[in-house]
Amino acid sequence: MGEKQNLLSLEDVCIGYETPTGTVRAVVNATLSLSAGDTLGIVGESGSGKSTLAHGILRLLPKTAVVTGRMMFQDVDLLRCDAKTLKDLRWKDIAVVFQKSMNSLSPVHKVGEQIVDIYRVHVPQATKEEVYDRMRHLLSVVNLPDRVLDLYPHQLSGGMLQRISISLSLIHQPKLVIFDEATTALDVVTQGQVLSEIRRLQSEMHVTSILITHDVSVVAETCRRVAVMYAGHLMEVGPVDQVLVSPRHPYTQGLLASFPSLSGARRRLRGIPGTLPDLKAEPKGCVFAPRCPKAFDRCHESMPPAVDTGTGCTVKCHLEGSER
Ligand code: ATP
Ligand code: SF4
Repeated sequence: MGEKQNLLSLEDVCIGYETPTGTVRAVVNATLSLSAGDTLGIVGESGSGKSTLAHGILRLLPKTAVVTGRMMFQDVDLLRCDAKTLKDLRWKDIAVVFQKSMNSLSPVHKVGEQIVDIYRVHVPQATKEEVYDRMRHLLSVVNLPDRVLDLYPHQLSGGMLQRISISLSLIHQPKLVIFDEATTALDVVTQGQVLSEIRRLQSEMHVTSILITHDVSVVAETCRRVAVMYAGHLMEVGPVDQVLVSPRHPYTQGLLASFPSLSGARRRLRGIPGTLPDLKAEPKGCVFAPRCPKAFDRCHESMPPAVDTGTGCTVKCHLEGSER
C-alpha cells in the first residue's frame, strides 16, 4: 500500500580492491535505487567500475574487495546477510547474464540436460518435464526452437548460446536481471536481435533489469533510466530521454560526442582526450578535472557531491547549482 517500495537501493556504496601497491577505488559513494519494472543502463568507459558495482550487488567479488555502505534488496541487507540467504537470492531473485555465460557449459552433455541440473540446484525435486516445459516457453520469448535443448553447446552459435543464457536467467522468474555486457561479444546483426528480445522481456514480462555496457546506443535502445559512470563515480543518473538528449555533466557530454548520433544525423565524432586517472591515488578535486574542458578553480579542490537537479536526475558536478 502507499509508496512504491524500492526493489534495490544502494546508499554510499564504496568498493575497493586491496592490492600490494594500494587500494583501487573501483566504486565510490554510489547511491542508486531501482523500483519494480525499472530498466537501468550503467554506462561508462572500460575500467570505470561498472562490473565491480554489478558484481558487488551479487556479492560475487574477489576476497580482496572491501565493500562499505548499504545495499538493500527489498528487505534483505546484501552486505550483512548470511551466505545461505545470498545463495537463495542469487539466480532465483537476482539473475545475471554475462558476456559469454554459456562458455561454462560442458561440451559433452546436451544443453537441456545441463539446464535441468542447473535448475535443480534451487529446486532439487523438479522433474525433467517441468524444466523442459518452462524452458520451451522461455526459448520462444527469445525466438529459439525447442530443439536446441537436444543439441550440444558446440552445435550452437554464440548468438544462440547467449539467447539460451538470457532465457535461462528467467527460469525462476527473478525479480531483477543484470545483463553484464551481455551482447558485447555478438556481431552487430545478432546484437540487434538480442537487444530487441531484451526489450520484449522488459515490456511484456515486466522484467526489472540493469544493463551494463560501454555502448551508449545499447542503453538508448533498451533502458528507461541511465547511470553514467566515470572512475568509480555515478556522475549523472536520470531518465534516458533527459541524460542522453540533454546531458548536464561534462563527462556525459564528452561520452555522447564520442558516439555516432543516436538520431542518425551525421557529425564529426570527438573523443575525450586523456585517460582514466590512477584509481589508487586519492584525487584532491573532481576525478574528471584533468580531462574536463569546463574545469574551474573549485574543481581542483573538492569532489562535487551528487546534486538533485529537480528533474529526476542527479549530477556530480560543481557547475550544478552555480551560475552556468
Ligand atoms: P570493463 O568495461 O573493462 O569491464 P568496468 O567499467 O566494468 O570495465 P571494472 O572491471 O569494474 O570496470 O574495474 C574497475 C577498476 O577496478 C579498474 O581500474 C580495474 O582495473 C580494477 N579492478 C577490477 N578487478 C580488480 C581486482 N580483482 N583487483 C584489483 N583491481 C581490480
Ligand atoms: Fe568538470 Fe568541474 Fe564539473 Fe568536474 S566538477 S565535471 S571538473 S566542471
